[in-house]
Amino acid sequence: MHQREEGFTWFSGDGTSASRIDYIFTRDCPPTDATLTPLFFSDHIMLSCTLSLPTGVTVGGGLWKLNCSLLEDEDVVREYREQFSQWQTLQDFYDSRAQWWEMVKERTRQYFRKIGREKKKRLTRRMMGLQKRLQSPPRKFLMKLERAVFYFLWVSKWERLKRDDREPVSPVPGLTLSEAKQVWRNAAHPALQNRHKDLSWMAAHEILPVRAVMHSSGMAKTPTCPRSGCNFPETVRHLLWECGAARDLWAKTGPLYFPCLPAGGAQIGYQLALLGVGRGLKDLTAQDFTSLWLTLNVIKDAIWATRNLLVGKRVPVPLHACELKVTSMLQGYRATIFGRGGRGRTERVPAATVAGRT
Ligand SMILES: [Zn+2]
Repeated sequence: MHQREEGFTWFSGDGTSASRIDYIFTRDCPPTDATLTPLFFSDHIMLSCTLSLPTGVTVGGGLWKLNCSLLEDEDVVREYREQFSQWQTLQDFYDSRAQWWEMVKERTRQYFRKIGREKKKRLTRRMMGLQKRLQSPPRKFLMKLERAVFYFLWVSKWERLKRDDREPVSPVPGLTLSEAKQVWRNAAHPALQNRHKDLSWMAAHEILPVRAVMHSSGMAKTPTCPRSGCNFPETVRHLLWECGAARDLWAKTGPLYFPCLPAGGAQIGYQLALLGVGRGLKDLTAQDFTSLWLTLNVIKDAIWATRNLLVGKRVPVPLHACELKVTSMLQGYRATIFGRGGRGRTERVPAATVAGRT
């Protein structure tokens, strides 16, 4: 190809051997202007030439290659065979076998590309699903399960209670029958927000999802109170009354409920705080009892809410923030129930809310 130039295109380092490129074979584009240029950095000589492409330069994906792994899928192969036998019936519509064969090649390409894309999509989706499942903490799932089981238990208990309500038996241990009845009326007190009704009801049944309750049904790892340094089992009574955090809040919010207590009467105790029953409450007016009961519920709510923040989000809530929550919730209640422009319940507090008056 470079007849006019003499010599070799490669020399060995010691000069004892050499070789020469004489031919370059190409299709439809003979090389021209071949020249040899010595290079200082190589023992090869640079050979350059010009190739003229008759059809110009084409760019693109190049030749299609069949993904052979698709042929291992029996379903894919069976479906392809069916298609192919259909294409065979089309032979008469083409001028030549070569034209027909081009069609078959094109459709084959389309078929396998489509199958390949679908397979890839399915695989990606599966991988994404797996990844998602691996990334989302199993705790979240367990919490959902916990909640589902809990509400199931709750609903079945609720149904049973509604059924049993017609019978004069109320399952509150350690209370007289009339006190027990009062507990259930208090839990359904019409002035209470629904969440406070739920909380009261669950507290009275001792089925609030505290750790001791969840642990006994195998849904919590430990029955121990989540407050740091508190190693008692977290029962409903512990959470709302005995735990240091609860005791602190009850003490701190005393000024809010002391004025509602009957003069010289009942001391605040577990039954009064949690269930709204106790001696001395008979002397309260309906409105005073409502004030007292709402205040007690707001305090229980604050204890429960801060406990859930601690367990769910690991956020410890300081006592003064807890106290602020109590006062703001009470203000909300006052605005809707006792406030001017409220719902007009100021005068009409249901008689059923008065302890002992049945
Ligand atoms: Zn505790």
